[in-house]
Amino acid sequence: MMSYELPITGGCLCSQVRYRITAKPIGSGNCHCRTCQKSSGSAYLPVLFVLSNALEIEGLYKEFPSVAASGNTVYRGFCPNCGAALFGRNIGHPELRPVSAASLDDPSVYEPHVDFWVCDAQPWDYMNPELEKFQQNAEHF
Ligand SMILES: [Zn+2]
Ligand SMILES: [Zn+2]
Repeated sequence: MMSYELPITGGCLCSQVRYRITAKPIGSGNCHCRTCQKSSGSAYLPVLFVLSNALEIEGLYKEFPSVAASGNTVYRGFCPNCGAALFGRNIGHPELRPVSAASLDDPSVYEPHVDFWVCDAQPWDYMNPELEKFQQNAEHF
């Protein structure tokens, strides 16, 4: 696994919203669900899972709620100025914050361990065959 130098920093396209990750992420993976496709405008959302108390956010952001397959409400945080997808929170897992790996200042440090919600993946979405696949939620990251 790649080593992260702390803090890991990131932010939105216009820099109105900035964040710092102060502890090593506990997992990472690519989510291919339809909600991630719609909200990111892409084939999948590359996500780092960070402990909630290790995510420090600066700047005004907005959240959009949607109901996940689990029935939990997921709030997706984005910049209201440039629209960039940044981070989320799932009310069923308040201890964890998913962070969009593409919003990191250096996204090359991201290394996915799993693909999940592959049941929703598009036929043109190429996946690394070496990564473990989960049809729906991943059992680990
Ligand atoms: Zn912005
Ligand atoms: Zn998803």
